[in-house]
Amino acid sequence: MLKIICLQVHPDDEYALMHEGGYGKTEMWYVLDCEPDSYLYYGLNRTLTKEEFRQHIENNTILDLLNIVPVHKGDVFFIPAGTIHAIGAGIVICEIQQNSNTTYRIYDYNRKDKDGKQRELHIDKALDVADLVQAPALKPISQENIVLLADCKYFTVYRLRTENKMTVKIDKASFHSLIVTEGNGMIRMNNTETEFNMGDSIFISAQDRYYEIMGKCEIVLSHI
Ligand SMILES: [Zn+2]
Repeated sequence: MLKIICLQVHPDDEYALMHEGGYGKTEMWYVLDCEPDSYLYYGLNRTLTKEEFRQHIENNTILDLLNIVPVHKGDVFFIPAGTIHAIGAGIVICEIQQNSNTTYRIYDYNRKDKDGKQRELHIDKALDVADLVQAPALKPISQENIVLLADCKYFTVYRLRTENKMTVKIDKASFHSLIVTEGNGMIRMNNTETEFNMGDSIFISAQDRYYEIMGKCEIVLSHI
C-alpha cells in the first residue's frame, strides 16, 4: 500500500464560514527533504465537469486525472483553497498555512482502518469547492538569493539565501517567522545574537527595525 495522505481539497473562507463555521485553508508547502522518486498530486491534468469528476471518484479512476508532480528538495507548492492535492510517501515538508483544518476527503485509496472501516469521504462538499479546471504548469523557482515564493492575502513567503550576511527589514505590520532550511548561523538584532541551526524556527515579533542574518544558510521567511 502506498503511504499517501488521502486526496483532499480545502474550502475557501466564504464557503467554510457558511458550512463549517470556521475558516478555509490556503497553504504552501516547502519541501525540506524527500526520498528519490517521490511525487505528489497537484490539481487536475485536464478540465472536468462536476459529473465527470463524480463518476471518476465512483469508478476509482480519479487518480488518472491528477497531475503527478515529481518532488525534489527545495520545491515549493502553493495550494490555494479549491486545489485538489495529496502528498506522497517519503516527503518532509514545512507547511505555511491558514490556521484551519477544514478538509474534504475525496478519495482514500479504499483503505480500511484496523476495524475494517473506511474513513468518511466528503464528495458533495468537495464538488462544491474543488477547482475542476486543468491546473497550470508549475514554474521552476529562481536561484536568486531573495525569492518571493508565495504572496496571498493570508501570508507572504520568501526564500532567503546568504553566503555571509544579509540585512532584513521588519516593520510593525507583522511578525517574521523564519525556518532554517539549510546551514547555520546567527541572527543579530537589538545587540543580541541568537545562533541557529538547520531545522530551527525563529520568531521575531513585529517592530520597526533591521536585523542581520549571518552565516551560510537558507531560510524560509513568512509574514502576514
Ligand atoms: Zn491540504
